[in-house]
Amino acid sequence: MDVAAVRLRSSFHGEVHVIIGPMFAGKTTALLRRIQSERDNGRSVVMVKSSKDSRYGLDCVVTHDGKKMPCFAVPNLSTFRAQIGHEAYNKFDVIGIDEGQFFEDLYDFCCEAADIDKKTIIIAGLDGDYMRRSFGSVLDVIPLADTVTKLTARCELCGRRAFFTFRKTAETQTELIGGADVYMPVCRQHYVNGQPVTDSARSASECTMN
Ligand SMILES: [Zn+2]
Repeated sequence: MDVAAVRLRSSFHGEVHVIIGPMFAGKTTALLRRIQSERDNGRSVVMVKSSKDSRYGLDCVVTHDGKKMPCFAVPNLSTFRAQIGHEAYNKFDVIGIDEGQFFEDLYDFCCEAADIDKKTIIIAGLDGDYMRRSFGSVLDVIPLADTVTKLTARCELCGRRAFFTFRKTAETQTELIGGADVYMPVCRQHYVNGQPVTDSARSASECTMN
């Protein structure tokens, strides 16, 4: 390869962008907006989500307010590459990954896709689980990232900024797929106070909404 070719090749480089935050913070909405904007700029885009999350079917990424985009649903990211084939994979400039916490091979995939294959990777995912502990591999990719955006929701109990995801039910497994029936976004105060007063908080919230 001559010097000009090397220069040309090195002018294209990969990127990793991470969008984190609690549930109901608009992470998927932000992801879809960025993917749409990349597409508007003439880049070839693809969306991937985990087949573990089948709440809205497996062929679309859907936001809580109903916006959607077609996607591939796969159990892990190495499967995604194999599933679409190398030729198709090579054609994509931008890969959007929704619910990144469900992919155990997120780190290795991002390394290879951004560093070697020169892809732009945009990931949306939960940074913490309902116990506020690191969820899956999302935080592992932060050292690889060009940008990290932490979004906030509105506390369901007081309306202040919400940083955490509160589980309303008694189940204790980390991965429990659910929506507003199972989770609510809460501020720090209501996260800390929430556990013993869940029932009264719930009726307070119902009062507020009425
Ligand atoms: Zn609150």
